[in-house]
Amino acid sequence: LMQLSIPLNFIGFIYREIRQGLTDIEAMFDLLEVEAEVKDPADAPTLQVSEGAVRFEDVRFGYDPAREILKGISFDVPPGKSVAIVGPSGAGKSTVSRLLFRFYDIQSGRILIDGQDIAGVQQESVRAAIGIVPQDTVLFNDTITYNIRYGRIGAREAEVRRAAELAQIAGFIQELPDGFDSMVGERGLKLSGGEKQRVAIARTILKAPPILVLDEATSALDTHTEQEIQTALDLVSKERTTLTIAHRLSTIIDADEIIVLKSGEIVERGSHRELLEADGLYAEMWAMQREATEAEEALRRAREAD
Ligand code: ATP
Repeated sequence: LMQLSIPLNFIGFIYREIRQGLTDIEAMFDLLEVEAEVKDPADAPTLQVSEGAVRFEDVRFGYDPAREILKGISFDVPPGKSVAIVGPSGAGKSTVSRLLFRFYDIQSGRILIDGQDIAGVQQESVRAAIGIVPQDTVLFNDTITYNIRYGRIGAREAEVRRAAELAQIAGFIQELPDGFDSMVGERGLKLSGGEKQRVAIARTILKAPPILVLDEATSALDTHTEQEIQTALDLVSKERTTLTIAHRLSTIIDADEIIVLKSGEIVERGSHRELLEADGLYAEMWAMQREATEAEEALRRAREAD
C-alpha cells in the first residue's frame, strides 16, 4: 500500500500543478476576453508607432453580426492626450477597448494607430504598443518582483523598485516580511483589489507603452486607496495617449475629451465643463453620481457616530 500511495500522491501533486497553471492561463484569457481568433493577413507588416495617435473611423461591430453593439462610432485620441468613454451599463464601452486590441475584427469602418489600420498589421505588434490596466488584475503565483517585471522581462531590480514607487505600492511592499520577494497569488499573499491594481500599474509603468487603456474598476475602493491609485494613474498616463473606460465620473474630469456612449452610439462629447453646460445625459449621470456619493458619505458618517 505504501508503495502505491507515493506515486498516487505524486500524480495528485502533478495534477494540481497543471490545474493551477491552467487556471492562471484561463484567468488571463478571461480577463482579456480573448475569444474569436483574428487572423493576420499573410506577410502583414508590424505596426510602426511614432506618436501613438488613435483613431476610430465609423466603426461598426457586433459580437453577433445580427446584433450591432457599436453603431458607427468615430473619435480621435491625439498623441499624448486622454479620452474617456462613459455611458450606461451595456453601452459598449469595454467593447471599444477590446477592438483597439484587435480581439475582434470589426464589421465596417477602420481603427488606426498612427495612420495604420490595425487590421492590416501583426496583432502582436498592436498589443505590444498598448498597455492595459484592467479592472481586475490576475497575479501569477510568484514573487511581487516577478509580477511587476512581467511588464518588461529584462528590467533591472532598480527599475522594478522605481516602478513600484511610481505606482504608490513600494511602501506597502517594503512592510511585508519578505519585501519584494513575497509570494503572491492563489498560493501566496492575497492582495486587495486596490493593491493588485497598483501592481498592475507598476507593471505597465515598466512596459512603458505609447498607448494606454485604463479600464476602471467598478468596485468601490476606499477614498484613500482611490486617491493613491489616481495619483499612480495620473503619473503613468502623463504625456501618453490614454483611453479610459470610466465608471466613476469623478476620475475623468480632466480628460481632454469625454465621449458619452449610449446603446452603441456617441450621444454627446466634450470636456467635463462643456458637457455639464449641455445639461444632457452626462449632466444627468453626474448629478446621480453626486447624490449616490453624498448618500454613501452620510451613511458612513452615521455609522461612525454610532
Ligand atoms: P459596463 O459599464 O456594464 O461594463 P459596457 O458599456 O462596458 O458596460 P460592453 O461590455 O462593451 O458594455 O458590452 C456591450 C454589449 O455587448 C452588452 O450588451 C453585452 O451583453 C454585449 N457583449 C459584451 N461582451 C460580449 C461577448 N463576449 N459576446 C457577446 N456579447 C457581448
